[in-house]
Amino acid sequence: MESTDRISAGNGEKRDVVDGKGLTNNAISTALFKLFKKNGIPTHYVCEGSNEFSKVVRKAEMIPLEVIGRFIAAGSFCKRYNIPSGKVFKEMTIEFSYKDDSLGDPFISKTAAAYGLDIASEETLDDIENYAFYIGICAQDFFKEFGLTLVDFKVEFGIDCETGELILCDEFSPDTCRLWDKDGKSYDKDVFRKNLGNVSETYKVLLDIVQENK
Ligand code: UDP
Repeated sequence: MESTDRISAGNGEKRDVVDGKGLTNNAISTALFKLFKKNGIPTHYVCEGSNEFSKVVRKAEMIPLEVIGRFIAAGSFCKRYNIPSGKVFKEMTIEFSYKDDSLGDPFISKTAAAYGLDIASEETLDDIENYAFYIGICAQDFFKEFGLTLVDFKVEFGIDCETGELILCDEFSPDTCRLWDKDGKSYDKDVFRKNLGNVSETYKVLLDIVQENK
């Protein structure tokens, strides 16, 4: 699996190339997937790849769901419910959205995913939800050490083609989560989405942090 320097937002309406992003995302995602594995979450990660922006992963049948965990209100959540960005939730929340760009990835309940669309069994969706909670806690602790607050994140799961086991796939990177420093400055894809500064420099700060703490 290769992480690239390409970046996009708004369902592909905004696109660019960010020097070093593939390397940064690969380093962060690898560090986190190793941490998740150590904490009992099965993942697709096998070992490092032949270069700094790739890794070897297990083959999986992807489950077409985006699993979104939130600690703090931001992004589409604020727009949907008309609440201010920055509201800290009492507990982490988990939402599912049906992964289909042409439909705009609509939000879907667990029972609608299980019995309406036959995406996965209710038991598998319960496992996904439990894993997502645990992933959120692990990632929150990880970034806290670097002075960053994990605001929200998106993860995806699949079924291991060989073993039939539910495994965490895709990535966990600044492209798929929100990270704020103590002053509320973004260290994630929002810098690109909202033109908040130099995207390459922002991702480089994250790479330096991860490499220094390897
Ligand atoms: N996210 C993602 N891919 C998507 C949608 C969301 O990685 O297709 C991530 C996003 O970067 C953020 C979290 O999921 O960290 C919650 O995103 P939100 O629902 O607020 O949507 P957004 O405002 O990013 O469109």
